[in-house]
Amino acid sequence: MLIETFLRKQLGLKAHTVKKVEETEKYMMADIDRLGSRLLRCGVCRQRCRKVHSVCKRREWRDLSMRKLPLILRYRPRRLECPRCGVRVEDFPWAEPWSRTTRTLSNAVAVLARELSWQGTARQYGLNWKSVATIVKRAVRYGLRHRKRPPVHMIGIDEVSRRKGQVYLTVVYDLERRVLLWVGDDRTEEAVKPFFTEELGPRRSRTLQVVCMDMWAAYAKLVRDHARNAQILFDRFHIVKHLNEAVDAARRELWRRLTAKERTTFKGTRWLLLKNPWNLKGHQKERLSTLVRWNAPLVRAWYLKEAFQLFWTYKQPWRAEQHLTKWINSAMRSKLEPFKKFAQMLRSHLDGILPWTKIRLSNGAVEGMNNKIKSISHRSFGFRTAENFIAAIYHCCARLPLPVER
Ligand SMILES: [Zn+2]
Repeated sequence: MLIETFLRKQLGLKAHTVKKVEETEKYMMADIDRLGSRLLRCGVCRQRCRKVHSVCKRREWRDLSMRKLPLILRYRPRRLECPRCGVRVEDFPWAEPWSRTTRTLSNAVAVLARELSWQGTARQYGLNWKSVATIVKRAVRYGLRHRKRPPVHMIGIDEVSRRKGQVYLTVVYDLERRVLLWVGDDRTEEAVKPFFTEELGPRRSRTLQVVCMDMWAAYAKLVRDHARNAQILFDRFHIVKHLNEAVDAARRELWRRLTAKERTTFKGTRWLLLKNPWNLKGHQKERLSTLVRWNAPLVRAWYLKEAFQLFWTYKQPWRAEQHLTKWINSAMRSKLEPFKKFAQMLRSHLDGILPWTKIRLSNGAVEGMNNKIKSISHRSFGFRTAENFIAAIYHCCARLPLPVER
């Protein structure tokens, strides 16, 4: 079989043909031409058109490599007089209208870009970074237009940081199907609102049953405004994170209160706690008791933390509530500022914390996806623009369909 015939079949050409294939040191060049007077299709509506208006200058498309050599298609596109659209450039069976790579190459690049960085993918296919960015963004746009949109019942809203915690994005997951639904440019009410008004729309917002999230006022307000049937559930992992931060803050506060002299006494005293008390000498005993006295706030913090965690084990709502109320009261009396703050936060968010006994759902189910987003950001040395980062997140986490090859 001639290589021209082989390519014509592979490219699925019907109104075009491969005239000749040339080999240079760096490329394989395939010259494409129109086949006789077969009708070409309008590039906008794909309708067959009788009249050719003019012939454009030659354009080139990159295709997959033929063994070691990149294959390049060359063709002079026709402009057609479409009865519906007017004068338009024809439709190419091998590529999207404005693309400079064939559909086959674009899809191969898109598939690899789910695993590798954009730089790595570009290197693999001998393209530049920008071409890969264009291909991925186009694939994402296609995927978002063509993905299935089944009803959503349980979602998780979370934030991811870009550029070392300076900028935040909001990500929304379908917790049942464990798939990314949406990415927003910020974590403000204004930035996340389009998820409810545009992505879901009022009708699908009504089917939402549970929304799992951090205690972040903007998110809660949006759910109350746009998904009134949904139960807000404050995410277990976020609550525990706040609790751990309170312990850390208590430790830092204690350290700050000590004078420089006291700090030196504190340092290198761990052995005092490990030694048998009856082996301690008089001045060592004194030091130990000072140490224990100073440490008392930390011990209280530690006990509070452990006691709080029991909450997650209760199955009866009234018992869980009783435990939490008692815990909040003792935290308020603990003389530990960070714990008082944490307790106040819990008190004002009880209506979204107590439902845990009935719902038992958390964003932990999509923890892996959050880690994936972190690795996407790392492997690309942090995307400079939010637009590119968002495209990469959709591309790797939303299970979008790729453009179909005709
Ligand atoms: Zn048309």
